[in-house]
Amino acid sequence: MAGKTRILDGKAISKKVRAEVKKMVQAFVAERGRAPTLHVVLVGEDPASQVYVRNKAKAALKVGIDGVTHRLPTDTSQTELLDRVRSLNDNPAVDGVLLQLPLPVGLQEQPALDLIDPAKDVDGLHAMNAGLLSAGRDALVPCTPQGCMRLIAESGVELKGANALVIGRSNLVGKPVAQLLLQQHVTLTIAHSRTRDLPGLCQRSDVVIAAVGRAQMVKGDWIKPNAVVIDVGINQNDHGNLVGDVDFEGAKEQAGAITPVPGGVGPMTIAYLLRNTVLAAKLRLS
Ligand code: NDP
Repeated sequence: MAGKTRILDGKAISKKVRAEVKKMVQAFVAERGRAPTLHVVLVGEDPASQVYVRNKAKAALKVGIDGVTHRLPTDTSQTELLDRVRSLNDNPAVDGVLLQLPLPVGLQEQPALDLIDPAKDVDGLHAMNAGLLSAGRDALVPCTPQGCMRLIAESGVELKGANALVIGRSNLVGKPVAQLLLQQHVTLTIAHSRTRDLPGLCQRSDVVIAAVGRAQMVKGDWIKPNAVVIDVGINQNDHGNLVGDVDFEGAKEQAGAITPVPGGVGPMTIAYLLRNTVLAAKLRLS
């Protein structure tokens, strides 16, 4: 059993990140005479997306970023969507472009994501940014993985030489967070749906990042004593409650530091979206 487990409070830590971003925005305004701008394209009426987009706009406003939401109707055609992305790419006053996913049925995500100017790609999903990241070069890096790394940094764990396990290999979370961990000199394992003996791998890991999307799949007795556990998952359990990919109560008994769900990784994602927006503005205009 671990000693006192540290709960990594994403709300408090994201507040620090947003304060840092606010300072970056102020410096940008002083230098450029205008605020950085974040343009979010929302197609259709998906209720969860509406909430996410509203939260992004509010968060942007609070740090001094100009947030603009482009609401397109559900029956928007692929051509109309691509035209909108093109016009944002071409507009020099636009610093960040984000396409809110998922798109309504019938619209293809990949061509629209591929069209976003890599220099304005604040979600870091363009293949150019993914490639730059894996080559260890400057890139716009996906927001959730950056949030995970900040939470790990706040835990105080020494990453150099540590055994790190990433569960999940999506382009959005698993792969980029694995790249960021590798940059910090961990010994890396990436697990996925075909992995054998996940509990055994977990038990040997000093850092575990769960990005699967399966409620409480990672059990308490899989966790190595004093490990750092970052739970990216957002799931509903059988009672309709929001839970992560990790059995928090069980894992807390073992871990040295662990993120709760909600209130762990979630708030960090928006904070790093804001940071990426300022970085994109600075890089493009430098
Ligand atoms: P994806 O569905 O794209 O990827 C899930 C990954 O988990 C896949 O690589 C899959 O493997 C792997 N997987 C599935 N089942 C198992 C299993 N039984 N054992 C091991 N690995 C398994 O999800 P995302 O990466 O987009 O998101 C993961 C979770 O994080 C979701 O709950 C999502 O809601 C949440 N999320 C939270 C964010 C936040 O801000 N907090 C932001 C983004 C996502 P394979 O590749 O073999 O199919």
